[in-house]
Amino acid sequence: MAKASVKKKPEAERVQLNRLRDDQYWDEAVVDAGGVTMTARVVPRFKTSALSGNEWRVSARTRIVTSASPYPLFEREYGSIAWALGLGAATDIYAQAHQVLGLRAATLSAFRGGYLLMTQKFSTFGEAAICAQAHIIRANEGWPGVTWHHLDDPQERSVCCQPGCKERPTVLYRMKHQRADRDGKLVPFEYDWQPRHRWFCGEHAHRGNQGLDDSDSNYEVVEGKRHNFSSVPRDRISEARTEVIEAGPDFGQDVADILRRGRKR
Ligand SMILES: [Zn+2]
Repeated sequence: MAKASVKKKPEAERVQLNRLRDDQYWDEAVVDAGGVTMTARVVPRFKTSALSGNEWRVSARTRIVTSASPYPLFEREYGSIAWALGLGAATDIYAQAHQVLGLRAATLSAFRGGYLLMTQKFSTFGEAAICAQAHIIRANEGWPGVTWHHLDDPQERSVCCQPGCKERPTVLYRMKHQRADRDGKLVPFEYDWQPRHRWFCGEHAHRGNQGLDDSDSNYEVVEGKRHNFSSVPRDRISEARTEVIEAGPDFGQDVADILRRGRKR
């Protein structure tokens, strides 16, 4: 009797998040002292350059507002959320918003993709706001009386992977290569357990033409639709800055002199 053929069901693809290099886990923090509020949040921008390529980059903006004025008491942009909540902002807040540091009873909250990670109460605004990054790290490592909430899989998959974005994803990508070797040759993932998926909303689905993380050519579509440059909102695009150095007729000679002096030392 002929054996009945049993068709094996294709196994569902195991989806594991490969976080972007500039994903520092929390992308927003708020300090509230009733009438005075500090916010620090990641701001993505699409950098374009004919020389170094197009890619998503992030900065972070710290802002202090009061109920007494429509204008911010303090506002500044930093290179990362760590700096916007750490020493970089601390020195600026001391210099420009010292009058609110002594306000009583403040609450610090940190978020990822809009999900609350932790809340902690402090006796003054200054205690919560100055180096808030350190308070968040301590809470993440386990601080008495503070509960840390790590996003579970369904929550993680419900928001776009782009740091600073709270939108729902519309496309699921699988990465082709994990790194480039010393000769610049692209190296595929070696093991099944290595995370290689990313998911983005319509605004962040086009990744650019730069390196591994930010190149559409390194992503295969698993679900949804690939996007192109036209999906990036115009107000998110900023051209890379180019520094122009004025070089006079003696410029080359000056450099030669410096090198010669250096060798004589
Ligand atoms: Zn997004």
